[in-house]
Amino acid sequence: MSRTKYLSPAYQFGKSFFQILLDFIYPPTCIQCNRRLDHSGFLCHECEEFILNLMNPAFQKGRHDFYHLEGEILFDEVITFWDYTPEIEQLIFQVKYQRKKKLGLFLGQQLGKAFQTAYENWKQCIVMPVPLHRIRHRERGYNQSDILCQGINDCVNVPIYYDGLIRNRHTSTQTRLSAKERQDNVKNAFEVNPSYSFQGKDIVLVDDVITTGATVNNCAACLKEAGARKVIGIALARPQLD
Ligand SMILES: [Zn+2]
Repeated sequence: MSRTKYLSPAYQFGKSFFQILLDFIYPPTCIQCNRRLDHSGFLCHECEEFILNLMNPAFQKGRHDFYHLEGEILFDEVITFWDYTPEIEQLIFQVKYQRKKKLGLFLGQQLGKAFQTAYENWKQCIVMPVPLHRIRHRERGYNQSDILCQGINDCVNVPIYYDGLIRNRHTSTQTRLSAKERQDNVKNAFEVNPSYSFQGKDIVLVDDVITTGATVNNCAACLKEAGARKVIGIALARPQLD
């Protein structure tokens, strides 16, 4: 999927000069504590360590953990790696709405490393982002789940199908919907990309957050119909439903 673009030395020099100038006028600060940074990341070393120490993998499956879902639960498991604390909520917001790609890559790398430890059969898996509809993708300019997958790709050697699933319905944003509305909202919203074979495969679906599980369940429905053996959803965190 990724294409390497040729950038002329003059362009690269101009870009780095512009970045240095920007950093001088607006010195980069840590998005958690506002402390001035001596590097071009988003978190200071203390906040980075603090965030890493907050990791707390949670393994969830079955009706007990997804009591909001009506009908059959078709995914096998959901693993989330942080509790939904205000700090994590803020980081997810930055990645999703504030174009903080480097932060998304960092979180994706942590997700990949933690998944390797948490899931024994990770080598058999194919990783795929939960897609955005092309209209939403165009509006936002990127899919945060793609960025998390790129981070996973930096440190885990598994195939990643960025276009394995297609979102064929432009659904309204889920943030303010009830559990039932979320489920109706994503029903039949996905289809598998016919260019790939999913027969007998173990699929890991990546999303920034998993809330009711409705999205993962609908993705799992079409992946299982296409012959997938297992579908596991992984996400940074799981917000509590109101
Ligand atoms: Zn900080």
